[in-house]
Amino acid sequence: MSLFEHKAYNQHEHVAFFQHKKSGLKAIIAIHNTNLGPALGGCRMWPYMNSAEALTDVLRLSKGMSYKAAMANLKLGGGKSVIIGDPRQDKSNDIMLAMGDFIQSLSGKYICAEDSGISVDNIKVMGQRTQYVSGIEAKFRYDGGPADGNPAPSTAYGVFMGLKAAVRHKLQSDIHGLTVAIQGLGHVGYRLAEHLHNEGAKLIVTDIFPDNLDKAVTQFGATVVKPDQIHAVQADVFAPCALGASINDDSIDDIKARVIAGAANNQLAEEHHGDRLKDKGILYAPDYVINAGGVIDIYHQRMDSSAAKLRDHIEGIGETLSGIFKRADDENKATSTIANIIAEERFLSGY
Ligand code: NAD
Repeated sequence: MSLFEHKAYNQHEHVAFFQHKKSGLKAIIAIHNTNLGPALGGCRMWPYMNSAEALTDVLRLSKGMSYKAAMANLKLGGGKSVIIGDPRQDKSNDIMLAMGDFIQSLSGKYICAEDSGISVDNIKVMGQRTQYVSGIEAKFRYDGGPADGNPAPSTAYGVFMGLKAAVRHKLQSDIHGLTVAIQGLGHVGYRLAEHLHNEGAKLIVTDIFPDNLDKAVTQFGATVVKPDQIHAVQADVFAPCALGASINDDSIDDIKARVIAGAANNQLAEEHHGDRLKDKGILYAPDYVINAGGVIDIYHQRMDSSAAKLRDHIEGIGETLSGIFKRADDENKATSTIANIIAEERFLSGY
């Protein structure tokens, strides 16, 4: 298994492998770039087929965090960690303690948060061995409401602000009376639906589970469609809030919305889909820019900050996106390309 020649290796500063025989922990931490600050990123536990698959994932995810932090104006770098194992069967207190030791061994270059397969409780156990964990306590919520540590309200509010900026740019309109198609009514999607409904949007929604769909019909008067139809409905905005890669070779020509703005990570199946959207006249809000509310929240919880400062920072997502849209127009490039260029300008120079 090669590292420096690996296709997902991207000048990562530090990649550390750790095995703890007694607990059975096998983990990798990848630190992509720390020019702007220590590398913050989630820990994912997944039953990877082998260590090569785990390495690919952690290299790719840690790189993504550098771009996300830079575009969110955070003094943070990009990092991520993976634990090889099935979160439903292989978790133990000892594994989490050993992971805490692993994180501590990097002396703060990497700060760990939760991700798929890892809960806040797991992070708390890691925190018995290291101070370099985050997302385990929340002192405030962006809207002054009671904080429970879940970053989804901040993410949803950031997506809402970004969606409004995209609509202003492309449709020269506010939200009232527009139709928004939301794919996935989970922690973020449902809250986004609520914001949009409160500002007078009409909603078309889908999910693979009925619970939140029924609620959305009752509370927001939403129209429900099947999961395989949502990208193709007649709507002004398409908001992917489920899994990644919803913009792909099969879906792209069916999209009727003129704006794509949603929470999901990795919405473009491949980079070139960003160019295809531009050629089709569809404005795409780059995913890692619009969905940064959660990481902004975690950052403020670690600082001596406040609900008001957090809210201002999240609202800045709209301005950041407006800047990207304008530069993309001026340079006749895809918004996804421009976001990458700006992020790299920031984290490579370490301004
Ligand atoms: P979630 O798991 O709570 O919600 C996802 C929803 O999508 C679920 O209700 C699920 O049933 C539904 N879904 C799954 N497959 C679907 C399909 N094929 N068609 C329609 N619906 C489908 O997750 P979340 O926390 O709301 O996050 C949503 C997306 O936003 C994810 O891609 C996540 O990585 C990204 N994101 C979340 C946060 C956050 O703070 N939670 C931050 C940044 C990015």
